[in-house]
Amino acid sequence: VERNVLLSGNMQKSAELFAKACKVIPGGVTAHIKYFDPHPIMMEKGNGSKLYDVDGNEYIDYLLCYGALILGHGHRQVFEAVTKQMVESGTTIFGTPHKLETTMAEKLIELYPGIEMVRYTNSGLEATLLAIRTAVAYTGKQKIAKFEGHYHGGYDQVLVSVNPDIDKAGESSAPKAVGESRGLPDYYLENTIVLPFNDLTATEKILRDHAHELAGVILEPIQGGFIPADQDFMTGLRKVTEELNIVLIFDEVKTGFRLSIGGAQEVYGVKPDITALGKVLGGGFPVGAIGGKKEILMISSARGGRDILTVGASNSGKQAPLYHSGTYNGHPTILAAGLATIHVLEQMGTMDTLFANTQLLRKQLEEVYKFHGLPMQTIGMGSIFNIILSEGEVKNYRDMRKVNTNLRKQIDYELLRLGIYTKPLNRYSMSVVHTKEDIERTAAAHDEAIKRVKNK
Ligand code: PMP
Repeated sequence: VERNVLLSGNMQKSAELFAKACKVIPGGVTAHIKYFDPHPIMMEKGNGSKLYDVDGNEYIDYLLCYGALILGHGHRQVFEAVTKQMVESGTTIFGTPHKLETTMAEKLIELYPGIEMVRYTNSGLEATLLAIRTAVAYTGKQKIAKFEGHYHGGYDQVLVSVNPDIDKAGESSAPKAVGESRGLPDYYLENTIVLPFNDLTATEKILRDHAHELAGVILEPIQGGFIPADQDFMTGLRKVTEELNIVLIFDEVKTGFRLSIGGAQEVYGVKPDITALGKVLGGGFPVGAIGGKKEILMISSARGGRDILTVGASNSGKQAPLYHSGTYNGHPTILAAGLATIHVLEQMGTMDTLFANTQLLRKQLEEVYKFHGLPMQTIGMGSIFNIILSEGEVKNYRDMRKVNTNLRKQIDYELLRLGIYTKPLNRYSMSVVHTKEDIERTAAAHDEAIKRVKNK
């Protein structure tokens, strides 16, 4: 254990607990994303903008559970809504319809220009999966197109060209489909077409070539939460998909409630056919949802259809609807947490302050790096951004691959020692409870981290 202690001395318990986890959990983590060398830090509790690890170290948290915790840790209003729901309902889940499902659906329809009807899932992954199945069912076509470098959850069809080796990925204007996991059936590689983000000419050409077999195009309007689509690209993509009868799916799992309360579709003024939501929607609990055009979503209506899980003669002869189910879908406690979160975000000035604080942090960090003579830019929109230690333009996956991450990594490890938390090389998410003092402390920590790296 000693040799592997990340941050000399004050990370001893983390190292020990991680070594113990490795004996019973492959690689010691329950999601790949949680790992970093030599071992991740074991967290024990969160409060507001802060995280505390098992060794008692305090961190200002910019991971915020990959953006989910827009109100920070343990927000009072979320806590109260969850408690009230549990006390009043006498249980946590019914396995029946209940009124919060409708209340939340009405809220999403009010906030998201592209949403006319809603279905719930338990994660962002399930939401994009359902969105894709819906596109396939609606169009009767088989293939799906996604953009290189875009993440939509950890399942077969979209574990393609998320972070591929460039030498295997072909021309930037016609990227090849590269599998990202062992165990992916060939079917998915063959049926997933990869597109170059922010390159409308090349994207349009590929879409036209495959229009006869393409059910849908899925994208993160802001790649990785921090590389924005160009306005012309978004407008053009909407136009061409409409013309070619290809369902346009916005994966707003990250941008939803964060880019603006009505997501990227509100900011860009572009209506997708289907929207996938997650993260903030659950107020810190596992959730997902799809919303979209009534005409499209209605194909999952069970009314009058055949039920595959109820055995009985009355089923015979009826057509199966698009199948969608899940024991915990529309979990009342989670919807109560989500509604409380949205309620806070809707209060006058909350989003404006969140954006202003994000801008302030970006500006202060840019000044620190400038002072040290290091090339640096922050990129992002809304309440998420990333730190890029180069001055070149970053518009897509290939541009990101050119960024030198070595220096950033060294600085990030120093930042962990100085009490600033995000996973090394990860983006920064802000919450409504991060204060000006947190921002000052973060800028000062970057200054110190750079000095330490320079003096090595
Ligand atoms: N889509 C996007 C854009 C995401 O960022 C994520 C999660 N990082 C997902 C889908 C998957 O969501 P979940 O982890 O809830 O399955």
